[in-house]
Order: sequence, then C-alpha cells, then structure tokens
Amino acid sequence: MSAMIEATDVARHYEIGQGMFRDVATLKAVAGATFSVERGRTLAVVGESGSGKSTLARLVTMIEPPTAGRLVIDGHVVGEGVHSATEAAELRRLVQIVFQNPYGSLNPRQKIGTILEEPLVINTKLSMAERRDKALAMLEKVGLRPEHYARYPHMFSGGQRQRIAVARALMLDPKILVLDEPVSALDVSIQAQVLNLLADLQEELGLTYVFISHDLSVVRFVADEVLVLYLGRPVEITSAEAVFRRPLHPYSRALLSATPVADPRRKRQNIKLTGEIPSPIRPPSGCAFHPRCPYARNVCVETRPPLYEFEGAEVACHGIAEGWIDPDAGWGESAA
Ligand code: SF4
Repeated sequence: MSAMIEATDVARHYEIGQGMFRDVATLKAVAGATFSVERGRTLAVVGESGSGKSTLARLVTMIEPPTAGRLVIDGHVVGEGVHSATEAAELRRLVQIVFQNPYGSLNPRQKIGTILEEPLVINTKLSMAERRDKALAMLEKVGLRPEHYARYPHMFSGGQRQRIAVARALMLDPKILVLDEPVSALDVSIQAQVLNLLADLQEELGLTYVFISHDLSVVRFVADEVLVLYLGRPVEITSAEAVFRRPLHPYSRALLSATPVADPRRKRQNIKLTGEIPSPIRPPSGCAFHPRCPYARNVCVETRPPLYEFEGAEVACHGIAEGWIDPDAGWGESAA
C-alpha cells in the first residue's frame, strides 16, 4: 500500500488583530500535524470543537494552503511543482469535501440535476447529455431514483439530502473524500444508513476517506485509523481497534468516557472532561492538555511531549512514556 495523503509537521496559523493598541496575535489552528493515510483507508480525525479538525479538513481539501510543513496528496506536493491553473485544478479535483449540514450546502433554488452537473460544467467538456447521464448514474449509486433529478432540495429528508451532497462530491471522480461531521446533523437511525452508503462507495470506488468527527461512537464503525487532535496537535494516532480497546492518551480516554459502552460487562476508568478547551491564541505551556489532565505532573507543565511510539501507537504523553499512567487500568477488562 502507498500513502494517498502524507502530512509532515503541517501547520496553519492565522494572524488575529486584537484591537487598536494591542499586538497582532497568532492563532495556531493546526500547530504541527504529522500523519499519513493509505489508499482506500479511512482516517478519523477526532476532537472537541476548537481542536483544529475543520482547519485540518480545509488543508487536506486544499481550500487553504499550510502555513508551514509539507503536505503530499497522491504524490503531488501541495503548493510546489504546480505550475499552471490547469494543474492546480486537476490536483483539487482529487479531493472533495462533504459538509455536516446538507441544508446549507445545497442551493435551495437549484434542482438536484443542476446541483450535480454544476461541477461538470465548470471542470469538464462533457456534453449536456453526457452530464445528465452521469448525474442519473450517480443518483442511483447513492440510492436515489431518476425522478429525483428534477426535484428541489427542500423536497428531501435530511438523510436524502446528505446522499445528494455525497453524489455531488463524487461527480468529478475524486480519489479522496473529506467528510466533515457528515452524519452529525442526522437522526441516529439515518446515520447508520449514510455510514453504510459511505462504506459501500469506498469499497466500490477505492476511495480514501478523512472522516472528521467529535463523536467517537460514530467513528467506531467507519475508521481504520484514528487521529485524536487537541489544540491543533495530534495526541494519539493508532488503529481504530486499539483506540476503542485501550485508549492511551488521557484526552482519548476522556472522549471515550463520553461515549456509550457497547458491552456493559466491560469496565472502564472514566475521565470526565472539565473546563473548556483553551484558546489556541494562548495555549498552555508544556502539554496543552495539562490544565484538564488528572495525571499531570510538573514535567507536563514545563515540556511538551513529542509523539512517542508505544506498542504500535503514537502517543504524546509523558505519563504513558515514563510509566506513571497504567495503559491497561480499567480498560477493556471484564467485570468480575
Ligand atoms: Fe496528562 Fe502529562 Fe500526559 Fe499531558 S503529558 S496528557 S498532562 S500526563
């Protein structure tokens, strides 16, 4: 397998004005992320609101360039070696995004056929008949019917609208879909249908997914790997199976504590997240999680932990690396 996405120390900073007599501050929305996603796999990026997930989604989708670091998509270095507008457009076609809110992302005054064909009008030389054929085929692929072609977005349910958003994202035959909270706005019963559709499309079309979510229980059914993000930095990168069986970083444990337990006989050590995620303009010293971490020691306040290799995972935690946090404490054990 080869990597479809390779990010090395990728960062995105914004200069923020703070008023007339104060200096400009730097907001580090993504402060340095290193990760890769193999072809045909799903990386879930998980964290609270304010963790930098959506900025990371915009970087991978090339809506914004990184401020620092190196991002390689399907062998192309983003921002380098792209000499013409045509080449840049070709690269952008590789990656498409599906947003959380299908109400907001579909133009209410356009019929579904027009919505689906618009990317083809802008980016291809297909004839009107070819565009229509492709739109009808795509409707079928996402589980909708030919008569839906001539209807307006308000005539559909939330789940159907998200199917339309997925269909539109696929019209240019991308290789990567960035799914930014794609089922968060849907009822739980509908979520499973859309997740199943995404899984089927991935298998059929060989797609690579970056799945952004604040909800670990959703990620459980779709992810191969999980990247837990806190204040713009990965704090744990591991397989989905491992993060649910034995989350290592205290922040991963806290996120998992907030999800329902599938098997009530399994014991786990709950960590309640207290307080808000700090501002990325003034992140805490050392480990940015230390003001909320029940295991914090002096070293955590003074030194930012790098991503340590730990039994097949990468985890940014002194406590795990130095052994004062027991990685097995209470996780995945059967109750007596
Ligand atoms: Fe907690 Fe320290 Fe680990 Fe940060 S480095 S998560 S503060 S134990």
